[in-house]
This record gives sequence, C-alpha cells and structure tokens, in this order.
Amino acid sequence: MEKYVIGLDIGTTSAKAVLFRKNGLVIAESESAYSVNHPQPSWVEQDPIIIEKAAISAIATVIKKGNAMKEQVCAIGLSTAMHSLICINDKHDPLSPSIIWADGRSVEQASKLRLQTDIYLKTGTPIHPMSPLCKLVWMKENDYQPYKEADMFVSIKEFLLLRWFGEAVVDYSVASATGLFNIHTFDWEDDILEIAGVRREQLSRPVAPTAICQGLPKEIANEMGLKEDTPFVLGGSDGPLANLGIGAIEPGDVAITVGTSGAIRQMASKPRTDEKQEIFCYGVTDDLWIMGGPTNNGGIVFQWMRDVLGEKEVELALSQGGNAYDLLTKLASTVSPGSNGLLFLPFLNGERAPYWDANARGSFIGLTLAHKKEHMIRAGLEGVVYSLYSVGEALERLAGEPVNLFASGGFARSPLWLQMVADIFGHPVQVPESHQSSAWGAAWFALLAVEEVSSLEAIKESIPMKQTIEPNRVSHDVYQELYGTYRQLYAALKPHFFALANFQRNS
Ligand code: ADP
Repeated sequence: MEKYVIGLDIGTTSAKAVLFRKNGLVIAESESAYSVNHPQPSWVEQDPIIIEKAAISAIATVIKKGNAMKEQVCAIGLSTAMHSLICINDKHDPLSPSIIWADGRSVEQASKLRLQTDIYLKTGTPIHPMSPLCKLVWMKENDYQPYKEADMFVSIKEFLLLRWFGEAVVDYSVASATGLFNIHTFDWEDDILEIAGVRREQLSRPVAPTAICQGLPKEIANEMGLKEDTPFVLGGSDGPLANLGIGAIEPGDVAITVGTSGAIRQMASKPRTDEKQEIFCYGVTDDLWIMGGPTNNGGIVFQWMRDVLGEKEVELALSQGGNAYDLLTKLASTVSPGSNGLLFLPFLNGERAPYWDANARGSFIGLTLAHKKEHMIRAGLEGVVYSLYSVGEALERLAGEPVNLFASGGFARSPLWLQMVADIFGHPVQVPESHQSSAWGAAWFALLAVEEVSSLEAIKESIPMKQTIEPNRVSHDVYQELYGTYRQLYAALKPHFFALANFQRNS
C-alpha cells in the first residue's frame, strides 16, 4: 500500500490541503475559502472557528478527491500565514477574532517601539503593526477586553492544535514571527514579554518543526476522514516552508512567493540582523534561519485591479467559464514591457519591506491619453515585481547575492507575471510544477518526522519542476531604465503619502 502525505496550508484567503506522493507528485488538491473582515478602517480580522471548519473540510475533500484510504495517509504537515493573534479562554474558545498580519491598528505603538532597536536585533521581527508584539501593546493600551480576560495568546495554527489535541505548542518559525521570541536563544524573551504585558504561561511551548501532535478526537478524525492516530507535524510558517518546498535551502537560493501578500527569502546557517531593520530573520530549525522581506502588496494588487478594472472580464469568466485573472493577463500581454512608460507604485495596503511605512499609498505615475486599461493592468503587475526587486536589493546586503531564483504562490499561475520576474531580476526563474510549495515544505517536515525520508536536503531530489524561464535581455534593459525612476518615487512621494493617509484617516 503506497503511503501519502498531506500538506495543510492555512493561507490568508483559504485553507489548502494537498495530497502528495512521497516524491512530491500531487495526487489531489483542495481549497476551502474564508473571508477577511474589515470591521473598522485598518482593522483586519478573521473568524478562527470558520478557519477551523475550512481546514477540516479541506483535509476531508482532498482525501476524497485523491481516492486515498485513511491508512495511506502517514502524516499531515502544517503551514500557516505568519503573525496572527487570537485571545483564547481556558476552554480553547476564542475571545477575540484572529487579528492577522494585514491589521494596522497598532501603527502608533509600532512607531514608538521601532526606536528600541534592540527588540528587533534580538527577535529578527521588524517592528510593525503586523507583529503580535505590537498588537498586544495596542490591546494593553486600549483596555481590549479579550486581552484582559485571555488565558492564552495564540496564532491560528496553535489554536487548531489546542482544539484538536489539547497541546499548547508552537513551531520556531511561527514563534519567531511574534516579535516576542529570541532567535539567538530560541526562547521567549522576558524583557519583551514585559513590554507586551504577557506571562510565559500565556504562550505555547516552542518546538522544532518535526514535533508531532497525535490523538485526534474521534469526531474530528471522522470528519476529516483520517485515523485518530494520524500524526500532525508542526511544520512552520508559510515563508520558510515555501523555500523548503521549492528547494531554496542553500546560500544564494532565493525564493519569491506571491500569494495575497508576497515575499523574497533566503535560508541562512546563522541569524543576521542589523540596525536598518529592513529584513526579517526567523528561526526555522535548530541550525537554520530564514531571512527576507515581506510585501503587503502581492496578489492583492491584481485582485484589486480585477475588482476595479475587470468588471467585463469577471462577467465573461462567469458566463463562459474561465478565469478573470487569465483574461486580464491576456489583455496585459498585448502591451510591451514597461507599459509604455507607465509606472505603478503598488503600496495599496501600506508597505512593509523595504520601507516599513503603513502610510505608503499606491499610485500610477506617467499616465497619458494613450494609456488604456491594458497598460494599467500591466503596470500593476510590473509594479509588484519592482517592489519585490527593491526588497531583493535590501536582502542581498545581509544574505549575499542571489544565484538561483525560484518562484511560487498564486501568481505562478500566470506565465506573463513569471516572465516579468525573470526580466526584471535579469535571472532565470525556476518554477515547480505545483505552486503549493508551502504545503510541500510542510509535508516534507512531516515525512522527516515520521522517518519516511532521511534529511531536509533530500527534498531537492523530490521537487517536480515545471520549467525554467529565461530572462529576455532587451526587456531587462527596459525594466532597468524604468526601475531607476521607480526606486526614487517612494522617497519623493513619502510626505504626500503621509498627508493623504492622514486625510483618509480623518475623513
Ligand atoms: P493566499 O495563499 O495568500 O491565500 P494564493 O497563493 O492562492 O493566496 O494567491 C492568490 C493570488 O494569486 C490572487 O490574489 C491573484 O493575484 C493571484 N492569482 C490567482 N490566480 C491567478 C491567475 N490565474 N493568474 C494570475 N494571478 C493569479
């Protein structure tokens, strides 16, 4: 009987379960979507109970779709988006929503904490409203009722593990991204817990990514279609798991992931942080760290363009079948690289790396009467890649020059967007067959934990690759020229972004 493994990735917009063969071939995928709520300007929340249901349903569906027998599933590896925070009571019920990475309510707390550089130097988490540290300080200063009543503070993955196994454990990479965890000692940092007003007992026990939880309640096991003793393996956060799942684990291997948000990352054998606070550095295993920069404005930019400019394509896709993104991408591909001199700063959602400025705003620069919708779409897609390129420059300073580029995430469905990456970076881009690299990274840790595979590095031989996209030198030159302008625009517009953001907050 062939053994299978499942990678479960709790993303921002959906839970994805992927059933893999041990060699990385995908047997079946399933996706269960949930909503992102904005109850007040800059507040971004999700319902953890709905996410729990979606996770259970994604697992059940993938097993059915793959016609797998429950005995065949040897383990489940877990991946999640970083920085979520839920206040829970002693029965493991949520007292608060899950406040996610995109939440900006703690802007003021973040700008004060950012002056204490040693917090970042110890934790590797850039001080920003994304981090649970800033959210906790906001809760403390605002008498947030769930904070006052909380028995524990957990991320969405810890929440699921508590409800399914009653165990309060957190893997190193999710712990690292809280801003409360010392990446040099691999322990919660007492000085910072004090700032957050949190006691150690209110946090989970940090464990390695190969740690196992076992013993599902019968009812949940039945709902999932699994055996009660199926091992659930902690895994990590979606960032480092995407690097692992794509094989980007050596110095010089750079992974670019674009889902709703985006990031560019490299693994390292030592932690590195510096006074500039531009790049994150999180622990992954006892001797592996991940460095990189996240952008708030990945696929969400395309989603916004689809909603604002793509009414016709959405209707067409609905009436004729197909996908609005594909129709819009096709339209954008009719325009030459550089969008006829139209640039787009993609900071629709404020920006994290490299500027760490919640007041940054999006903008089209260079519009003329000759520009049409297709130019705007193309400029939007190009702007996301320019932004990743600028983060890559900051990453290079700490982690060294890129040698191999890998791409994954929802954007990898678009050949045009991938070609832009190759052309803007001026490097070949390797693309795996499955764009669910985080799920495969999580599944690999699961296989390692149950001793079905022998080493982390061996994953390199088990990643079915789809293609390598070569850069077009002529396009690269066009992009280099335009990037020269792009990189100066943020600094030039910063005071105006600030004024507009203030206006928006007050109106
Ligand atoms: P997450 O894990 O953050 O929930 P995904 O990895 O599924 O997100 O990526 C979602 C994003 O991928 C969308 O916002 C969109 O920009 C992009 N995307 C999805 N399908 C396509 C497509 N066919 N072509 C181009 N981009 C796409």
